[in-house]
Amino acid sequence: MLKQPVDQVKGIGDKLAEGLANMGIFTVEDLLFHLPYRYDVFEVQPLAELIHDDKVTIEGEIASPAQVQYYGRKKNRLTVTLLVENVAVKAIMFNRAFAQKQLLPGRRVTMTGKWDQHRLQLTVSNFKLGDADEMTPIQPVYGVKGSVTVRQLQKSVKQALDQFETDIQEVLPVTFLTSYKLPDRRTALQHMHFPADRQSLAHARRRFTYEEFLLFQLKMQFIRKKKREASAGGSLYYDREKVKDFITTLPFQLTNAQQRVLKEIMRDLGSAYRMNRLLQGDVGSGKTAVAAVALYAAVTAGKQGAIMVPTEILAEQHAQSLAAMLDGYATVALLTGSVKGKRRKAVLEQIAKGDVDIVVGTHALIQDEVHYKALAVAIVDEQHRFGVQQRRTLRDKGLHPDVLFMTATPIPRTLAITAFGDMDVSAIDEMPAGRKEIETYWVKENTVDRVLDFIRKEVAAGHQAYVISPLIEESDKLDIQNAVDLHQMLSAVFEPDIRVGLMHGRLHPDEKEAVMKEFADNETQVLVSTTVVEVGVNVPNATLMIIYDAERFGLSQLHQLRGRVGRGDAQSYCILIAEPKGEIGKERMRIMTETTNGFELSEQDLQLRGPGDFFGKKQSGIPEFKVADMVHDYRALETARKDAEEIIAEEKLENDPDYRNLLEALDAQFALNGEVLD
Ligand code: ADP
Ligand code: MG
Repeated sequence: MLKQPVDQVKGIGDKLAEGLANMGIFTVEDLLFHLPYRYDVFEVQPLAELIHDDKVTIEGEIASPAQVQYYGRKKNRLTVTLLVENVAVKAIMFNRAFAQKQLLPGRRVTMTGKWDQHRLQLTVSNFKLGDADEMTPIQPVYGVKGSVTVRQLQKSVKQALDQFETDIQEVLPVTFLTSYKLPDRRTALQHMHFPADRQSLAHARRRFTYEEFLLFQLKMQFIRKKKREASAGGSLYYDREKVKDFITTLPFQLTNAQQRVLKEIMRDLGSAYRMNRLLQGDVGSGKTAVAAVALYAAVTAGKQGAIMVPTEILAEQHAQSLAAMLDGYATVALLTGSVKGKRRKAVLEQIAKGDVDIVVGTHALIQDEVHYKALAVAIVDEQHRFGVQQRRTLRDKGLHPDVLFMTATPIPRTLAITAFGDMDVSAIDEMPAGRKEIETYWVKENTVDRVLDFIRKEVAAGHQAYVISPLIEESDKLDIQNAVDLHQMLSAVFEPDIRVGLMHGRLHPDEKEAVMKEFADNETQVLVSTTVVEVGVNVPNATLMIIYDAERFGLSQLHQLRGRVGRGDAQSYCILIAEPKGEIGKERMRIMTETTNGFELSEQDLQLRGPGDFFGKKQSGIPEFKVADMVHDYRALETARKDAEEIIAEEKLENDPDYRNLLEALDAQFALNGEVLD
């Protein structure tokens, strides 16, 4: 039984048990799964390959007696010369005078330490008499806290492995072990703590990586299945012919990708379970048209649709474009915080009576005062902008609508199937034909004059430009001040020939609307803005995006901003004004200039930032894996997902005795997190 208190391990007394408890180790199992967070690999390297200042391991023969110098109180320094590949190398050690007796001329010795290439000198941290093959070349590195030492921990783990050997039960069905050539759980655990060599460590890691992914995927797939079962009876009886007819009225032919995701969505709508789907599509890939079709499908069934967006600007824009698209097919109403008084009352009443077919709005849509007559399809645009709670509330509104979440932040596939494993995922991975790739340049601040000339040139050609002011984190106020300053500066340079508008989050909604309208109507040619234009804004005549202090933005955000241009037929440009300090910042700028493909960019972003940072902390929904690494082990993740799907679909957990331990492990995971199915 691994659930016993850790003091059941021989040699662990009260004091050590207390120390371990402080590290979160309470049971034998906790102890066994307190795995090294890193491994130092010491392998003897030839002299020629040693790198200055690196931690290296060398072996050689002691050439002359070791010398010890004493200085200060209790301090000493030992120096000894080795012959390594016939070269004399000096080794020094501090406060280890006792070694003098061991390091005798003619003996062979293996030493690890920091290498000084200029002096051919090693500052020794670790040594062992004899050649390297007698020494464990891989050293696990553990995290310890308080009074607990690494030595104590390792000793305890070793004892626990011996004492509880037979209790370490396999959870993976044998078929997986054989077909993937994975070591059994006990052996793998042994190798995680005491790796004999690189290969056995690699196998052990592979095993636990797969185990972690499989359990997690099983959990997600299980939740997904439960959700489906719970939502049975949700078929939407939409009118296929009417929907087809509506599609033909669109001013363009849908791309293959749009058609494909629509098929997936329509299948969800018609099926017995409720849709819970994530639609990914790069900026400008045409998600709005897809949304319009899905919303209209609800209307043909005599129901209502709603689309929720994160900002008022976007709500207004969507309301306009949807109303235009759906003219003659459905009625569209706008509901945001700034729809007030009588107008608000009227809209609320229309929604409640079913006099309006489609509602577009901000989170105002999910407030208590809003009652839908028959909400059947709900769409959340730019879903990452909403918290989990807001998303859930929308889902619970009305009569259990089918829900589609849309995002223009392409999420690397590994993250998508991890964070959104309980959803279905669709992707529009193709741009409408004829789009020109946006040319992106990275410039330093001292070339701002040339950037201003570029604005003049574009405006002279009849186009427009956005200028994004620097982002000041944690400070709305400074953000806005920056935009105001920049607006003043550019107005001084350009007015009256070129008119400059100003947009930021503190403007009154009416003012915002007016500013956007002026820009959309080309009454202003340059729009200075904070990142409020980031999402969704659509002014096809704008061809130039200039971003000040671009190093302050993440890759995804830069990509979003860049997506404001390149929406028409003309060639568009993005200019990043940036002086990044670190390598990562420079790398970001380079990546931006090299790719306009959002999916590719997001993969790179993930590499740069790591999974934890990718989504804001708040709502990441990404579990912490002990061994597995989503970025590097993505193949294992794909495999685990496929296997999990199969196991759930074939109900093996319930029916196949080989899967009993796996079921127990899964149960334990659910219980551990105290999770409930919603
Ligand atoms: P996003 O996915 O960023 O929300 P939009 O839906 O706003 O993209 O579409 C961007 C632009 O592309 C819009 O002007 C839209 O009319 C146009 N568009 C959408 N689908 C197509 C298509 N299949 N062919 C041509 N243009 C399209
Ligand atoms: Mg959009």
